[in-house]
Amino acid sequence: MTVTASSNRAVLPMLFTEVEVVAVERLSPTFVRVELGSAALADFGVDGPRWDQRIKLILPDPETGGITSTEDADGTWFATWLERPAAERGHMRTYTVRDVRGSGAQTTLVVDMVLHLEGDLVGPGSLWASRASVGDRIALLAPRRGFPYGGIEFTPGPGAELLLVGDETAVPAVCTVLEQLPDDATGTAFLEVPLAADVQDVRRPAGVRVVWLAREGADLGTGLHDAVVAHLDPGSSGVAGAEVQVAPDEVDPDLWETPFYSSSGEDVPGDVAGVGGTYAWIAGESKVVTGLRRHLVKELGFDRSQVAFMGYWRRGVAMKS
Ligand SMILES: Cc1cc2nc3c(=O)[nH]c(=O)nc-3n(C[C@H](O)[C@H](O)[C@H](O)COP(=O)(O)OP(=O)(O)OC[C@H]3O[C@@H](n4cnc5c(N)ncnc54)[C@H](O)[C@@H]3O)c2cc1C
Repeated sequence: MTVTASSNRAVLPMLFTEVEVVAVERLSPTFVRVELGSAALADFGVDGPRWDQRIKLILPDPETGGITSTEDADGTWFATWLERPAAERGHMRTYTVRDVRGSGAQTTLVVDMVLHLEGDLVGPGSLWASRASVGDRIALLAPRRGFPYGGIEFTPGPGAELLLVGDETAVPAVCTVLEQLPDDATGTAFLEVPLAADVQDVRRPAGVRVVWLAREGADLGTGLHDAVVAHLDPGSSGVAGAEVQVAPDEVDPDLWETPFYSSSGEDVPGDVAGVGGTYAWIAGESKVVTGLRRHLVKELGFDRSQVAFMGYWRRGVAMKS
């Protein structure tokens, strides 16, 4: 590994560094696992469990290969970066830390990236993942040990029954959370993936059930919606297999409703749920998550402090960067 610690080490409260691909593994038709290294990752760290810790990758522009320099970045870098044309500065996308390996200057971050095999439009993230090879370089924004960074949304109250729900983009987050749970945790995870061949083995406590749902060409999110509704509300008279009933103009592509933040401007409790009850963490395509949010909040009366609903992507809409 030849990437050295960036010269902004002492300046920024987060890591903003160039990283190099040190390994690539095609896990399944839909998932590519990339391992990213840099001596600067010696300073990577989170205060407490990593849970669903998100990071940002800055990926080259597909046309020009333009990529961001992290050298000499200071507190103004983001505003300056945004002002430059994307063709020069690359594209920022959000991913999950699937694993952290090694230590010190040999620390690497593992990221599982989805290839958009079902869509006609392929974004810079998916495209880069499909071509990634050892030695490729991109830029990374990640937590620096000892500094607040945010980016962890999994905040169940003590003793909560867990409900973890995600499509393929949230599989890395849910699997990482499952691996970090205490042995006495209980609950169910529902994970929808494009193909049966995308189902993964995941370590989890004995009391947590994992249900994999393979679309195999069916509508996005329909199986997931039905499975979650049936799980929470076995007597429900919902029509199984019906398309998620949310009009396109009712979908906020940036849907983010947690106990601490509301993309729609609702009041937030700013605190985690009390002891017990069910805690729901739901992430994936924004329309699908909107449909589940309606069911949990409107039909079942879930309290805001017990839920996190996160639009990880929106069909037909490129992420902003
Ligand atoms: C907190 C958080 C954590 C995330 N973690 C991960 C992760 O670990 N791994 C991961 O792969 N993704 C993850 N995502 C989702 C990822 O950021 C988006 O899928 C993102 O749009 C990918 O960027 P892109 O450049 O490939 O596509 P964009 O340029 O954003 O979009 C281009 C086109 O691709 C479509 N598209 C985007 N995503 C998909 C998809 N999954 N399937 C089909 N079409 C798609 C868009 O609708 C659009 O039409 C996460 C998102 C968030 C918010």
